[in-house]
Amino acid sequence: MSSKIQGVRGMNDLVPEDIGTWHIVEAALRKIGWQYGYQEIRTPMLEKTALFKQSIGDQTDIVEKEMYTFTDSGEESLSLRPEATASTVRACIQHGLLYNTRQRLWYLGPMFRRERPQKGRFRQFHQFGIEAFGWPGPDIDSEIIRVGERIWRDLGVEGISLQINTLGSDSSRADYRNSLKNYFLDFIDQLDEDSVRRLERNPLRILDSKVKETIRIVGGAPSILDSLGDDERRHFDGICDSLDASGIQFSINPKLVRGLDYYTSTVFEWVTDQLGAQSAVCAGGRYDALVANRGGKDTPAIGFAMGVERLIELVNIQGKHKIDEQNLIYMIDTNNDISESAMLAESLRNAGYRVISHFGGGKMKSQIKKADQSGATVAIIVGESEKQLGVVQIKKLRENTPQSEVPVGQLVGWCKQNI
Ligand code: ATP
Ligand code: MG
Repeated sequence: MSSKIQGVRGMNDLVPEDIGTWHIVEAALRKIGWQYGYQEIRTPMLEKTALFKQSIGDQTDIVEKEMYTFTDSGEESLSLRPEATASTVRACIQHGLLYNTRQRLWYLGPMFRRERPQKGRFRQFHQFGIEAFGWPGPDIDSEIIRVGERIWRDLGVEGISLQINTLGSDSSRADYRNSLKNYFLDFIDQLDEDSVRRLERNPLRILDSKVKETIRIVGGAPSILDSLGDDERRHFDGICDSLDASGIQFSINPKLVRGLDYYTSTVFEWVTDQLGAQSAVCAGGRYDALVANRGGKDTPAIGFAMGVERLIELVNIQGKHKIDEQNLIYMIDTNNDISESAMLAESLRNAGYRVISHFGGGKMKSQIKKADQSGATVAIIVGESEKQLGVVQIKKLRENTPQSEVPVGQLVGWCKQNI
């Protein structure tokens, strides 16, 4: 006997009961992208593995441990995308989207990381992200942050706070890397294995460690803010001033580095204490060197990626958005031949209504019960005598009023007046 095959661990089905909140959140995200003049880009789930290795960095957790990689036809190494910035940059270069023009883009879709599944951490999860290509100044940094803030506001989500930092320029980061290396060398016996390995080439990675003992050591590490040059300081101050002017509260966290190597200059994270261990809802920053490194023209760029499951969990916890079933019509026909009411339902849909037809008979009482459970506003009932007389009975399901009898030809008009 064959056994039931379950879904893959860490990859979730979204059943109809869950989907309502997704629709609300997805619609809000699309609308906000549109309001700020960002346009959607869709890229494939699969890319060449080299794209992620070269963009995200081959000493990052994502590339070292978390990618789903396979060899296609024994030749080419492909990976399911663990994030979408690398693909967006590839697509922009490939299609000349940055040629003599700037771009504001957004995306929404599934990402794949082979992490240990737990609350708020999955192997297939969704990110909404925005990317702005071509603006060097701090104005766009603060716009990107304001987009995040508007998402919380429009969805009525509270209790998300903003942390920002800068990774400086190539030269200040090189200085900082040296002072970090010197600092961590004193603790080399106490660092975790990954951190020791990263000490030589990528000591900034250590600041992002999730290992408890390492986090303690990171607490005493020098701050990048002490290594900044004048221009970088001015850019960072520009963002802080603009956020102050917008009334957006933030804290500066000089240890914030992010888990991807392509970041330069500004980095930020929106965090909450309402999701247990998984506190980051949205994270981003500048990646001014990535477009050129991938073979494009030198183009400053900045973006963020938001964990949609974590955002939806917050929307559910704070419970402000109820699914609206208003204007749903439930059509009941107790006759054997229901073709006339099927056509009637079509004419209502032509007029823009949402209509669920009851098929398959059953007692009138149980049909009315189903209509009620559907959340519909009204039930339209066609029994044998109604069919003969060319009328329908209409029952308002959310009001205690008598049924109305309406001639079939006047049904759409009645709905326009009453629903
Ligand atoms: P974390 O520190 O939680 O692992 P990260 O730094 O790896 O996050 P990013 O790569 O910056 O995360 O992705 C941006 C956002 O995507 C995160 O802030 C989070 O909300 C979400 N996210 C990342 N990984 C997962 C996952 N495995 N499951 C669900 N959401 C995730
Ligand atoms: Mg991670």
